[in-house]
Amino acid sequence: MSETLTTNKYPLLIDSFNRKHNYLRISLTDSCNFRCTYCMPDEHQHFLPHNKLMTSDEIEQLAKIFVNHGVNKIRLTGGEPMVRKDFADIITRLAKLNVELLITTNGSLIHQHIATLIENGISSVNVSLDSLKPSTFEQLTKRNQFEKVWNNIQLLLNHNIRIKINAVAIHGKIESEIEDFIQLTKHLPIHVRFIEFMPFTGNHWNKEKVITADEMLEIVNQNFDTIKLQDEKHETAKKYKVIGHEGTFAFITTMSNQFCGECNRLRLTAEGKIKNCLFGKDELDLLEALRKNEDVSTIILQSVMSKHAIMGGQFNEGYNYTDASKIVNRSMIEIGG
Ligand code: SAM
Ligand code: SF4
Repeated sequence: MSETLTTNKYPLLIDSFNRKHNYLRISLTDSCNFRCTYCMPDEHQHFLPHNKLMTSDEIEQLAKIFVNHGVNKIRLTGGEPMVRKDFADIITRLAKLNVELLITTNGSLIHQHIATLIENGISSVNVSLDSLKPSTFEQLTKRNQFEKVWNNIQLLLNHNIRIKINAVAIHGKIESEIEDFIQLTKHLPIHVRFIEFMPFTGNHWNKEKVITADEMLEIVNQNFDTIKLQDEKHETAKKYKVIGHEGTFAFITTMSNQFCGECNRLRLTAEGKIKNCLFGKDELDLLEALRKNEDVSTIILQSVMSKHAIMGGQFNEGYNYTDASKIVNRSMIEIGG
């Protein structure tokens, strides 16, 4: 990427708090083949009609504009990104850009796309898996697909693709599984991340359902000898390892210890709106601008400059004081996690 490109017509995406944004999360769709209640509030959710979704060509065009502005890391998410019929086409297009290309998936369709992942050099995949018990998995996702997801995790391992497992930690549910998840890291080179439960529209969040990283670490330490690992810059996860284990584990502390000061992330929803924060209500329509041949860069910069210091300006006082009903946002599945 040339310096002239990022300094003139395409300035770097630096906000009013001097945070540089080089990481874009693109939602490919708001639809999904699972029904995780913490993410998709309504079993009979209405998904966006096709003409409202960005096409693969529009995704590529918008991604290129972000890359010109200094973005060098793109994560594809959703909804479930792999339900898109043109998933392989999108990967193939974006893999040609000068970015680290990553995917977050529920894992159920990886077997259909493994060749695409390998051909396009995807070296790391985040797989969401909240339970290692098939019956609990079905309760949480409303789908009987544990075995499929587990087999696909093995498939990724067989192809030496790095795996991060994302487990949403809900108080009263995760406690009985923490030890089993940590045991997974004994012989497998995987990284398990426990994500503190976050509030989004319709997901019945309340502070009693949050189990914090400190509380979870205490449970881990009852059975294992752990060491703290060095966290990378902009890393949202606090990393640990059990001594002697091959894999590692971490906590994403969005609720108990926010990391907004280091934030380098922007989001693009499946219908092409830029969100400058997961918890913010402000959105600007890049797809409409692109379709009308208007200046997309100016809108991106406007969004970056209006980014709030903490948690989208909506719950600055900590999760203990958060009233979920007052947060104006979308459901997680409509944002793109
Ligand atoms: N369908 C894909 C998947 O499940 O990985 C990608 C989209 S999903 C919205 C992205 C991530 O957000 C998943 O790891 C999911 O567990 C996480 N997530 C969804 N709702 C959440 C919530 N309320 N709190 C914390 N994490 C959540
Ligand atoms: Fe679908 Fe992922 Fe949301 Fe579950 S977390 S409903 S798999 S988008």
